[in-house]
Amino acid sequence: MAELSDLPLRDNLVGKAPYGAPQAAVPVSLNVNENTHPLPEAFIADATEALAAALRNVNRYPDREFMGLREALAGYLCYGLTPEQVWAANGSNEVLQQILQAFGGPGRTLMSFTPTYSMYPLLADGTDTGWVDVPRADDYTVSPELAVAAITEHKPDIVVLCAPNNPTGTPMSLETIRAAYDAFDGILIVDEAYKEFDTDTETAISLLPGRHRLIVSRTMSKAFAFAGVRLGYLAADSAVVDALRLVRLPYHLSGLTQAAATTAVAHSAAMLATVDEIRSQRDRLGEALGGLGYVVHESGSNFLLVGGFRDPGAVFERLRDQGILVRDLAIPGHVRITAGTAEETQVVIDAITAFGPAGSV
Ligand SMILES: *Cc1c(COP(=O)(O)O)cnc(C)c1O
Repeated sequence: MAELSDLPLRDNLVGKAPYGAPQAAVPVSLNVNENTHPLPEAFIADATEALAAALRNVNRYPDREFMGLREALAGYLCYGLTPEQVWAANGSNEVLQQILQAFGGPGRTLMSFTPTYSMYPLLADGTDTGWVDVPRADDYTVSPELAVAAITEHKPDIVVLCAPNNPTGTPMSLETIRAAYDAFDGILIVDEAYKEFDTDTETAISLLPGRHRLIVSRTMSKAFAFAGVRLGYLAADSAVVDALRLVRLPYHLSGLTQAAATTAVAHSAAMLATVDEIRSQRDRLGEALGGLGYVVHESGSNFLLVGGFRDPGAVFERLRDQGILVRDLAIPGHVRITAGTAEETQVVIDAITAFGPAGSV
């Protein structure tokens, strides 16, 4: 067997590690921010029929422009969006990759504010786009002043703002997004993967009119409880969509994916019915851990970044041994915990309570 180092790998991939949140079959998986609730039975019934109909057509290529799904998504997003302003791919990671293929590449740079989503630098590497990372403030916010100063200094071609931010949960103001857009001539991506959980801030989709370099990306992997289907999407000017059609693979969204996702959007109210419950479990988890002296960072999302651990790696292992997965993101003293069902939340509260107050583990 050869080693990776025996291969003529591209220089910017040498020494890199693939994305790899642990996937272990444990009873309580709270490490990748999925919606852990069961899907509505009425959706399962309709999707089963839609998938059967799609299967009868898999001898043919699917609709390359997936107009049915784009119409459904435009209707779901509101703000008067047309299907021409909506695009989708196999997860918002693929959406982001297509954006980098169209607007990044050799000699160009992607900038973000860290800690943030760990896939951004990997997607930059994969598309030969330079990566510029600027630290967030101590409370993990990005003020309009910080955004403008960093953009002015680094002159990136693309900026991605994660709103709310993963892994910190930090919400982002529309003022920061407006200021960042005005600070340069490049592409501004607002990654709203968790937006359905953040009811306090208006979506950046409201900023699209008159801003043709703004892209708002979304996913069905989190609030929609649809991570296994792989469906991410975006809203932008139709010219942006035309650019992405230059780099997408033909027929990239399978007929089965289109059928399942279109049915899910038709059931969006039921699919999203657990969002309020997840938010209240998140707040219950935060209060319990705060009561033990842990530092619970503000979250507009379905997870909490929690500080006050002496050894997050050991905490990860001890919880895993009890059948609980949380995320150790190499932020000193911190782990990230997804809010699950009431039962799952109780299991993780009990386990950490048994460790003792902040600083014991
Ligand atoms: C989970 C997540 C995504 C979604 O990825 P998919 O490819 O759609 O599953 C995108 N951005 C952020 C910040 C995320 O946390």
